[in-house]
Amino acid sequence: MGGTTMDPKESILSFLHIARLMHSLGPPSVGVGNALATVPFPILSPSYQITIDKANAQNATTYLPKTYGADNIKGFVAQSAVILKSFSRNDNGVVEIPFSGGGSTSLVLEKPLSRGTALLNTADHYTEPIIDYNCNINPVDSDIFVAMVKFARKWYQAPSQIRLTPVEQSPGTSISTDSQIASWAVNGMTSSTAHACGTTAMAPRDQAGIVSSNLTVYGVTGLSVGDISIIPIIPATHPCATVYAIAKKAADLIKSRYDSSIPPAGSIPISTTTISTTASTTTPVPTTSASPTCTVAKYGQCDANVSSEARYILLFKGTSKVLEYSLDTAADLV
Ligand SMILES: Cc1cc2nc3c(=O)[nH]c(=O)nc-3n(C[C@H](O)[C@H](O)[C@H](O)COP(=O)(O)OP(=O)(O)OC[C@H]3O[C@@H](n4cnc5c(N)ncnc54)[C@H](O)[C@@H]3O)c2cc1C
Repeated sequence: MGGTTMDPKESILSFLHIARLMHSLGPPSVGVGNALATVPFPILSPSYQITIDKANAQNATTYLPKTYGADNIKGFVAQSAVILKSFSRNDNGVVEIPFSGGGSTSLVLEKPLSRGTALLNTADHYTEPIIDYNCNINPVDSDIFVAMVKFARKWYQAPSQIRLTPVEQSPGTSISTDSQIASWAVNGMTSSTAHACGTTAMAPRDQAGIVSSNLTVYGVTGLSVGDISIIPIIPATHPCATVYAIAKKAADLIKSRYDSSIPPAGSIPISTTTISTTASTTTPVPTTSASPTCTVAKYGQCDANVSSEARYILLFKGTSKVLEYSLDTAADLV
């Protein structure tokens, strides 16, 4: 700055002075999106066991997509056993509650039982897949949403929050019964908070798994998957760190499979698979003209369980002039 130096403390004070002049009715700055809590079910709701019992009493197929085959259903049963066991634990988050200096918070369902589909577009395999999250189709998810809203309301009455004199703007105190909260939540819900996974789940093949524990795709030679899609159940966290771990493991596995005797891609003819559709054939019969060194047993198509969190926004208005916001608030969540 033109050869002059400014005392950092003086600089910050000047900034605060200007900010206060410009925004004299509000805080000099508001932190956004830098803190969150993942909350276990027993902390979220004292009646968590009722929800677990309700889930255990369900017929597994009742809320699953009609396109699910026996393997998808078996996979869902295996997943829900793990999820329901985790529901009673104090060290496993079922929901995420992000918080910041602003007056609203999202409530994120991290362990949904609703399941959707990610299907190839049979009209054109090169277009985007057809994804249906089937969000909130399972009433157990709805029960957890209701518990989340009640918990958030309780949290806003906790000592760290009450000194900010919050006033609930949305949904508002007129929405009070469980069924009112559930209907309101459905209307304000988005299908994902961008942590979708599970389209090529690592699971046994007879449970609709697409990749094995060494990340190779069942039925396909020489194809591995190493990204978020292999995770069968959404982790109770933002997933990037887990994805880095998967990618590093995938790199190690793929390197260990490297066979220098196999010619590089492009130097050998690629096999072609055609589907016979002659009038006399009722079931299409694949016929493969395979090259001697490269065979394709099956394409890695996905008809997998797709699972994603759903979330909605709960909005509160703080009336205090300067919000003193601290991590005290995190202590109120647990
Ligand atoms: C808006 C948003 C915010 C998020 N915030 C967070 C966060 O704060 N913290 C967190 O932990 N997670 C966050 N996530 C989730 C996280 O980004 C993803 O879970 C993670 O990036 C998934 O990693 P991936 O490697 O599986 O896929 P991606 O990161 O999507 O990587 C796939 C790559 O493949 C490339 N690609 C696609 N098609 C082709 C093709 N045909 N040929 C060549 N390349 C191709 C793409 O360009 C891309 O680079 C966020 C996601 C979104 C969308």
